[in-house]
Amino acid sequence: MNIDEYQTLACRTMGDASLTTLALGIAGESGEVADLVKKHVGHSHELDREKLKEELGDVLWYVATMARALGCELRDLFPSYSFESTTNCARKRALERAATGISASAGRVLILLNDSDGFSIGYEESQALERFLAQLVLSINDACKTIGVEIEDVAAANIDKLRRRYPDGFSSERSRNREE
Ligand SMILES: [Mg+2]
Repeated sequence: MNIDEYQTLACRTMGDASLTTLALGIAGESGEVADLVKKHVGHSHELDREKLKEELGDVLWYVATMARALGCELRDLFPSYSFESTTNCARKRALERAATGISASAGRVLILLNDSDGFSIGYEESQALERFLAQLVLSINDACKTIGVEIEDVAAANIDKLRRRYPDGFSSERSRNREE
């Protein structure tokens, strides 16, 4: 699955979510990544690699849908070079850095929307949000490399989960009553 296909399929279940709702989604899913990494690095838990993959996919989903809400292509937020920042430092440190990067960028998105009225953002704010989303993609990509998966595989697993959860598109009722 390429990134364009992923964004199209991800947006199938975005409904009419506002920028603020999507920003809260980024914050929530970033927190789930942070919690898994904290437990692994800080509390010596076994890394639940599949769960981390899933949560990275959840963050990516919100990045893809917020990009759509801003009228930009997810592919334009991807780095145009191979990102190899994890090669020179220990894996746990690299994973910790990727997780703090994700949460930091999530925070920047929230601060910007909290400082505006959240509904009518101007051109400069929109450009800033796109930069923060690009930083999120970098950190998600870095986390993927740290655990030895490709971001495209994380994206594909995310779509599989949403297909199971919302076979006919997003519905609030299915969201309220889902088991997983
Ligand atoms: Mg999640």
